[in-house]
Amino acid sequence: MPSSLIIGAGLAGLTAARELTRYGWDVTVVDKGRGIGGRLATRRIEQARLDHGAQYISAKTTAFKHLLQDLSAQGIVAEWHLEQATLGDTNFNHSRYIGANGMNEIAKALARNLTVLTNETVCQIRTDDTGWLVETEAGAQYRADSLIVTIPAPQALTLLEKSHVGLTASDQQALSAITYHPCIAVMVAMNQPSLLPPPGAIRYQTGSVAWIADNGQKGISPDQPSVTIHASADFSQAHFDSDLSGIGQQLIDQVSEWIPASAVRSIQVHRWRYSLANQRYPGSFLAAAALSPLLFGGDGFGDGNVEGAFTSGLQMATYLRENLA
Ligand SMILES: Cc1cc2nc3c(=O)[nH]c(=O)nc-3n(C[C@H](O)[C@H](O)[C@H](O)COP(=O)(O)OP(=O)(O)OC[C@H]3O[C@@H](n4cnc5c(N)ncnc54)[C@H](O)[C@@H]3O)c2cc1C
Repeated sequence: MPSSLIIGAGLAGLTAARELTRYGWDVTVVDKGRGIGGRLATRRIEQARLDHGAQYISAKTTAFKHLLQDLSAQGIVAEWHLEQATLGDTNFNHSRYIGANGMNEIAKALARNLTVLTNETVCQIRTDDTGWLVETEAGAQYRADSLIVTIPAPQALTLLEKSHVGLTASDQQALSAITYHPCIAVMVAMNQPSLLPPPGAIRYQTGSVAWIADNGQKGISPDQPSVTIHASADFSQAHFDSDLSGIGQQLIDQVSEWIPASAVRSIQVHRWRYSLANQRYPGSFLAAAALSPLLFGGDGFGDGNVEGAFTSGLQMATYLRENLA
């Protein structure tokens, strides 16, 4: 039975794992996180539930639409009726979807029946002509015929360097060209609803705040009002390494018309070093020149965002099935 080891249990890794498993492959997914889902991230603060990574999903391809329809029939995915004014989006002709109980539930649903190991940070990879050996910080070792790497490209390059795995100049150049915006996310648990008008989200084109969303109106935080704020790329870049203690309040002050000071109960801040891939590899994955199959994918490849990560995972699985089975 052909086997694959997948680094990263975000949407790209889980999609590749599901597809290969469906065809009888022996697949193990490892992730450094305590939970799965990567940037499909949902957090609980008090009784509130907040999405602090991806906010909604667009679906343009048939394969992704089918998956979302299936998850919708199971009650895992719902539609969020955002307006053109909310998104400031000229390309406003398709539906937006969310996890009905948070974005992370989508990842959990996709991981059902897969072998996904969490708290496993990959620190070394090695290859010979029989396959790959992957080692984690906890000292575990995993072997597989093929390796799929879905972590952001800058982190993948660091891992390769630490592992003394060389790439061809063109593969190295392709991965080095992929870049991401950082994003500082502020999560606010409140004791009364925000004043955001329906449908509960606004995207800003200028200023230090890029996005604000009311998780209650979104439908994922019925037990306590809560708001997620995303700082703009410029603000996040400028403040990424600063002490974050005052930054949450500073960003809340920027949107105080929607969040009365008396409504704020607690504030948490999360730093996403890699949020949206702004320079992407044109193809949906990169098959590197190596002794055994080595694929790089994720949202840094192809169309980006959640849907791009899905397509990348699917295409990597198809490539391996066609070239390794
Ligand atoms: C703030 C924010 C807002 C966003 N908003 C949207 C949006 O509204 N719509 C949209 O479509 N997209 C949005 N995105 C982007 C979207 O979340 C991503 O494009 C998508 O989730 C990426 O999936 P992925 O599988 O490629 O990567 P990830 O989800 O990042 O998965 C990679 C996984 O690799 C793991 N990992 C990293 N290093 C190691 C290691 N050494 N060993 C083991 N595991 C490792 C990580 O823990 C992670 O789980 C947003 C992202 C952020 C951060």
